Amino acid sequence: MLEICPGCGVALPAVDGGSHRYIGASPSCWAIFTALVNAGEPPLAFAPLNQLITDAYAAQHPGTPSDQAIQSVAVHTLTLYAILVRGVDPERALWVRQRALRGTRRGRFFWLTPPSFNSTRTIADIVRQSTPEARTTEAQHYITDVWQRWSLLHQQTIADWHEAFVIA
Ligand SMILES: [Zn+2]
Repeated sequence: MLEICPGCGVALPAVDGGSHRYIGASPSCWAIFTALVNAGEPPLAFAPLNQLITDAYAAQHPGTPSDQAIQSVAVHTLTLYAILVRGVDPERALWVRQRALRGTRRGRFFWLTPPSFNSTRTIADIVRQSTPEARTTEAQHYITDVWQRWSLLHQQTIADWHEAFVIA
């Protein structure tokens, strides 16, 4: 039995298990992501951009509009923008995420209609590679692919948020 991920569209053998509360992923896609990011399985070669895998994954699995989903998409697309467009050091990814959320957050962000992730690269494409180096290279393509799709629709809004909530 294959299940289709509502976020990235990957078709994977169905697994028992939960998915995330507001990240819109199939249980099988979510299991691959958590193994890769939390358990380091399969391993990646070190690269500064590796820490953006989580941001790209959350942005690629926006879920459905709710306060938490809105905030998640905003924070993770802001982090991709800061590092990939504004040249913020990837070491400061956590700083960007924290800045985006400091103070009163209510009503700060709004739902951005997600781009199509048709024929997107997926987390399964990363783990399918045969070496840590090849997985890291694929991860970088993955991160860029997800960001480009968001930026085509919403870069100005995300830039405005960055100005207002990360820089200010
Ligand atoms: Zn997925």
